[in-house]
Amino acid sequence: MKHLPHGLPSGHPPVAKARPGFPARLAAPAAAARAGATPTTQNRVQAAVQREAPASSGLGMDSQAVRAAMVHKLRLQGITHPAVLAAMQAVERHRFVDSALVNQAYEDTSLPIGLGQTISKPNVVARMIELLCQGRSEKLGRVLEIGTGCGYQAAVLSHVSREVYSIERLRGLHEKARENLRWFRLSNLHLLFGDGMAGYDRGAPYAAIIAAAGGNAIPQAWIDQLAVGGRLVAPAVTATGQQNLVVIDKTASGLLRTELEAVHFVPLKSGIA
Ligand code: SAH
Repeated sequence: MKHLPHGLPSGHPPVAKARPGFPARLAAPAAAARAGATPTTQNRVQAAVQREAPASSGLGMDSQAVRAAMVHKLRLQGITHPAVLAAMQAVERHRFVDSALVNQAYEDTSLPIGLGQTISKPNVVARMIELLCQGRSEKLGRVLEIGTGCGYQAAVLSHVSREVYSIERLRGLHEKARENLRWFRLSNLHLLFGDGMAGYDRGAPYAAIIAAAGGNAIPQAWIDQLAVGGRLVAPAVTATGQQNLVVIDKTASGLLRTELEAVHFVPLKSGIA
């Protein structure tokens, strides 16, 4: 496993990547109206973006309003933790998706990120991180994320944690995440390439562990690497035969397992590729 002790490469000026600014190719509201579209949230969001950013700078300020609408929706969906909502407001999700999908970046949907993987829905990201926070207002300590993917959730985590280690088993995505995240210069986020089934022993014990891919069981290594008082949140197949969010609390007197709602994550796989 390749460990990058200093996290993301530093010394890069915060220059936007060569990709279209936000939003790319918006349907004009008038055209949408002609097409008989009802004033959906998406239309309102698109109109807000157009008001904010007739000529996109690509520096992200123009997407503030769209993220505010996303955060408003998250509140309506029951997300309440202030730091989680602030992180969802701060991280520019559109910088993590391909330019052809930028218009959908703030919809509550998972999107393809290449190599058959997906970026999780904003609602799922917020829900899982809120669970990790256990209702506490202070920042999380050291956090392990399994499944960096495009790096979006890692960026959100870095806002609510002191230190984040994020592992990805697909080299192509590990490198893509590094590229996506360079702009953000998150010095407390360390990207690792390797098989996350084994966790990452060198960073243990973790105050929190979160997985973005689901297997039939929670690997023992994750439980071993969780600190006492820490919490693990991961999708896993349960007795119902479907994938559910599973929360494991490691307490001084043992493990406490809670199974929550059904979810649909990509499979947790062993080995690297
Ligand atoms: N949080 C990510 C979601 C990525 S999808 C984001 O914001 O984009 C889940 C990711 O888990 C995929 O990239 C997949 O390759 C990765 N994955 C699956 N099994 C893994 C393993 N054993 N170790 C590390 N990553 C794994």
